[in-house]
Amino acid sequence: MSSKKQTISKSDVEKTVRFAKKNPVLAVIIALAVIGLFVYQSIADNADRVTVPMDGLYVHYIDVGQGDAELVCCDGEYMLIDGSEPSASDGLVSYIEDLGIEKLEYVICTHDHSDHCGGLDAVIESFEVETVFTSPYTGDSKAYSIFLDAVEAKGLEAESPELGETYKLGEAEFEFIGPVQEYDNKNDNSLVMRLSYGDTSFLFAGDMTTNAETDLLDDGANVKCDVLKVGHHGSSGSTGYRFLYEAEPSIGIISCETGNSYGHPHEEALSRLSDADVTVYRTDLDGSIVIFSDGMSVVKK
Ligand SMILES: [Zn+2]
Repeated sequence: MSSKKQTISKSDVEKTVRFAKKNPVLAVIIALAVIGLFVYQSIADNADRVTVPMDGLYVHYIDVGQGDAELVCCDGEYMLIDGSEPSASDGLVSYIEDLGIEKLEYVICTHDHSDHCGGLDAVIESFEVETVFTSPYTGDSKAYSIFLDAVEAKGLEAESPELGETYKLGEAEFEFIGPVQEYDNKNDNSLVMRLSYGDTSFLFAGDMTTNAETDLLDDGANVKCDVLKVGHHGSSGSTGYRFLYEAEPSIGIISCETGNSYGHPHEEALSRLSDADVTVYRTDLDGSIVIFSDGMSVVKK
């Protein structure tokens, strides 16, 4: 096509103006039709890209085998908490892509174990990422180094969040309530987050054990929640009675793989959850689990 055909000439504009002056009603109808077509096209394009509903809060506890990965969706903004093992990264990236998500406002690494940070490098390479939060107490494991390299290659910095500071994801708010100190047990160094949306709340316990749970409660942290991401894949060393009765969740989610070598979830933790009347869903039995909040109550989709 020649450049002459692509250009709107002065005489074209004059002809259009003359037509509009002669046929004002017809000109308005044509203009409205053109605008309508643009609006329709824009909505259709948007519908192709975003498949997460824009009303309410959705938390996906993604089935990533023996590991953790939770995706929080609110008002077109997205946060990923942990990314399981490297072997789960392709499935994790596909899961997020299939929801039509292109940008993650937050990527959170709760601690430096590979079943939490192992797949995050692929996520950071695959999506636009705004902010990366990590525990203030981390080591130099191979998986964690690969995660940090990916963060740096993206021109980002892994920041340690301030405990008690409030951050926003759409209309949802979240704050980190732990760890309140450094521990020898790396699991206890997990970032612990409480997210609230309207009257509902979600707690993400990472892999902390009853040791860190006790310190959180002694520190006066608010652990009340409707939905608890059960600590350390349902291990017997986590989710103690004191913590459970303070948190009072109605739903507990356990992320683990069928037949995992740790025997997660352990009978002791399941028994305590049962004593506290918590309805438990498990990624090894239920696959990926989605919990919806309308701001007043939570429901499993
Ligand atoms: Zn873990």
